[in-house]
Amino acid sequence: MSMPPIVSIQNLNYFYGKGDLKSQVLYDINLEIKPGEFVILTGPSGSGKSTLLSLIGCLRPVNHGSLKILGQELKEATPNQLTLVRRNFGYITQASNLIEFLNAWQNVQMSLSVQSKLSAQKQYQRSVEILTAIGLGDRINHYPSDLSGGQRQRVALASALVNQPQLVLADEPTAALDKKSGRNVVALMQRLAKQRGSAILMVTHDSRILDFADRIISVEDGRLGRDLDQEISIALPEFDEALLKTTETQPTVLSYSSGEVIIQQGDPAHNFYILLEGIVEVFQENLNQPPKLLARMKRGEYFGEIGLLQGGKRTATVRAAKDSEVKVVAISQPLFQAIMNHSGLTSSDIVRQLHRRTMSSYLARAFPKIKPGYLENVATQINVLRYGANSYIVQSGEQAQYLYFILSGQVEILTQDSQGQEFYSHSLSSGDCFGDKELITKQPYSKSVRVLSDSELEVMTLSGSIFLDLVSKVESDANTVLQKLVTLIQK
Ligand code: ADP
Ligand code: MG
Repeated sequence: MSMPPIVSIQNLNYFYGKGDLKSQVLYDINLEIKPGEFVILTGPSGSGKSTLLSLIGCLRPVNHGSLKILGQELKEATPNQLTLVRRNFGYITQASNLIEFLNAWQNVQMSLSVQSKLSAQKQYQRSVEILTAIGLGDRINHYPSDLSGGQRQRVALASALVNQPQLVLADEPTAALDKKSGRNVVALMQRLAKQRGSAILMVTHDSRILDFADRIISVEDGRLGRDLDQEISIALPEFDEALLKTTETQPTVLSYSSGEVIIQQGDPAHNFYILLEGIVEVFQENLNQPPKLLARMKRGEYFGEIGLLQGGKRTATVRAAKDSEVKVVAISQPLFQAIMNHSGLTSSDIVRQLHRRTMSSYLARAFPKIKPGYLENVATQINVLRYGANSYIVQSGEQAQYLYFILSGQVEILTQDSQGQEFYSHSLSSGDCFGDKELITKQPYSKSVRVLSDSELEVMTLSGSIFLDLVSKVESDANTVLQKLVTLIQK
């Protein structure tokens, strides 16, 4: 897990041609390949797969962005450095270039002798060994013209693997083969690579071999498609790719057009969603009232967990915002459950964690200059509480402990006369907050706050000491901080 990546690409762009003829074929590529991984790049012809492979293979200069092989940056690397890096590769292409006047073992030995200090005898032994391992023990003296397509490709494979490279680069290695020999070659490749700890990066649009890969990445118009595993682990740090193999259902990407409902309040819950693109809005729908906007979410945030964890009914409606195309990863209940089980957390831990994550991302937007670690701590001090009709939230004379934000419902503020009789002063509703003045002046409440008789109240509370600490951290007045908190919670 902690081994350094074999390949690490960041913000890579690539252009063919110069001047007026200059055209971009790769856009903002980010990719990491770990030791021993088998990664398949797939996508339509002309999408840039071979170009990317040849950049990784040091066959073209890297001009924009960063491409590191085993820690060596290729951009601006000297020819000598490139040669050293190339020694870690085995390269296989569609039309494998065997030398026609050399027989099978001599072809393999050719790639060995380029860098090997082995004696001629040892080189022969090694070549025969690997040809035998690949099922060509009885063909070592055959010339390429006497071998079938599948057999030639296996000789090429032996040549690519004989140096025990850390990375095998393969460009459409099965394109010229029938299904059976194609799968045989890839199966051998996978087995030998795994035995030797080599990573494989294979370009193919041969759908018959995709199942060999640990990871499939699509390339379209010069851009890498989403790596779903990575997207999921951003939202769920406990997520482990191996879990995908334990359940029948796989995460899927779904698209919604502007305004379309993704989940409907009251409906049974089936999926957990991670937002990939666009903005969604979360609404609470109450009888005889217009829907109330609870939250807007963007990329990396998630929804749908509450319904899955608590009772199976959707507690809110989520839909694509106006003018926003939305893409989500949908994770089915069994897979979500597997993730929960694997992480060893209880569902209330998860809810709390999710809540905290959402809050810290809100806070990070409101207070961009404050350290995220601190804001995460602030987020842990935020709670959502519910009060029934007529209940007191604070009473006059009490010392203030919390800052309150009303999420839904209404409260009345009550003053007292000299006999202790309470009088209605005014009311507050969703979006309002209270407790701030008392926290700042450190004076006890002079008024009481009570939920209206026909209302249920949902409030978000923030610990008063954290609020004051935040004010001092932001180096701004309490009102500005409060205003920011109010706006972010209203969002
Ligand atoms: P793929 O392997 O996915 O089929 P390529 O990487 O071969 O795609 O090609 C990506 C794009 O770059 C295509 O539009 C192709 O026409 C163009 N291209 C490939 N090689 C060259 C080159 N040597 N000079 C200019 N354009 C090229
Ligand atoms: Mg190609």
